[in-house]
Amino acid sequence: MVSESKYHYKHYRYSSAAVAAVIRKQDGVKRCGRCEQTKPLDQYHHDKSRADGLYAYCLTCSALLREQRRDKRRAADRARYVARKPANSQEG
Ligand SMILES: [Zn+2]
Repeated sequence: MVSESKYHYKHYRYSSAAVAAVIRKQDGVKRCGRCEQTKPLDQYHHDKSRADGLYAYCLTCSALLREQRRDKRRAADRARYVARKPANSQEG
């Protein structure tokens, strides 16, 4: 079956990526998925859901991303607040 071999290929790709992650972890370093710098493992948050048990982005990048997300949410909250306010027809 075509779909079956496709699945197998996908599965194989995933496991080889996991193996590569483990090998990298044994070196005591990991490459950040954002800034693409190779950094020591203590520069990464722990993430049990990931193959290598570490977050994909380094501490610097995850802090930046968190700030960006917070700013975005803040802007969205403000926009919602303005939209909820009754329309003010007093102009000029
Ligand atoms: Zn980074």
